[in-house]
This record gives sequence, C-alpha cells and structure tokens, in this order.
Amino acid sequence: MADNISRETFSASAVVSSRVVSNETPDKHKIAEASRIIAALQHELEELADLGSGPFAAAIYDAEGNLVAKMPNTVTLDNCSHNHAEMNAIKAAEEKLGTYDLSPFYLKLYSTSEPCLMCMGGIMWSGIKEVYYGVPTESVEEITGFDEGYKPGWLEEFRKRGIIVYGNIERELGEQVLRNYVAKGKKIYKPSRQDEQ
Ligand SMILES: [Zn+2]
Repeated sequence: MADNISRETFSASAVVSSRVVSNETPDKHKIAEASRIIAALQHELEELADLGSGPFAAAIYDAEGNLVAKMPNTVTLDNCSHNHAEMNAIKAAEEKLGTYDLSPFYLKLYSTSEPCLMCMGGIMWSGIKEVYYGVPTESVEEITGFDEGYKPGWLEEFRKRGIIVYGNIERELGEQVLRNYVAKGKKIYKPSRQDEQ
C-alpha cells in the first residue's frame, strides 16, 4: 500500500497516475477505509446503473463510521441536471440531520469519481470535512465523454478551508465500471453545445 501513496500534495488534477493523491500527509488508515467503502460503492453501482442511475454513487459517513446517506446519480431518472450522486447524498444527509450545515457532525463523503465543478461547490457549502474519490476527472472524461467542468487547484482550495481530500482510490476498479457503463450503450447526458451542432 505504501508504494501506492503519492508524496505529492495539493496537485490531484495535475497528476496522471494511479497513485493515491491527497491534500494532507497521506494517512494509510484513511486510505484503507476509503478503499473498502469506495470498492463497495463501485460494485453496487453496476446494479444501480442497470436500473437507470447515472454511473456515479456517493456515500456519507460520520466520524464513528456510521452510514448517514448513500445515493446514486439520478439526473435522468429525476429530469434534474443537479442530481449528481454527491449532491443527492448531501441533500439526504441534511434532511436526515435537519440542518443546512453539516460541519458540527464531522462527516466524510466518499464518491466513486472525482467531484465535478458543481459538486465541488456543493461539498464546499455543505460543511463536509473529508472527501474521498475514486476515478479522477481526466479518466471520467476520457472514458465516458461527460464534461466535468473547470476546477483548477481545487485540492489546495479545499485545504485552505480545512477540507481533507484523497483521490484515485480504487481507480482501476472505478474505470472498469465506467467502461462497462459505456459498453452497455447507457446514456451520456449533457447539454448540447454550439460547437457540437
Ligand atoms: Zn457532480
């Protein structure tokens, strides 16, 4: 596991490798826990996507390791472009806990892929304290064609706000789940753009 941990920090978006990246000194116990949770999410995701969900899932746990909320991407099911897995999970956690500010609960968000531009904002406003993601944006875009948005230096921006981020957790497994989604001919939903017409 140790060889797999990046010594580089604050540069997730720039690193193209399967190594785990983080915006703090890497903690092997956090990586091991995240690997377990994200691998389980990836396996569940295959089934959810067959039921109509987008190929992304997120789960929120409290500091004691209890599951608070778990949701897939439901953009096409709900006809709502905002309903990414992370946004759905945050909304479910806030409703469950009866608050718009999750920070007193010290919650951790685990996502099968790197948060997009919108979810990056959603996480920042929610009070989530730790973020762990699987497949990095460059792989998501390359494999699926989804547009993940523009997020320069977001790990450093999160670090400044006291939010811990780890990425590339179980990356290869997650990439295979995305490839399977594409191979099944599932929908790649995004707005049409002028230059594509
Ligand atoms: Zn998103």
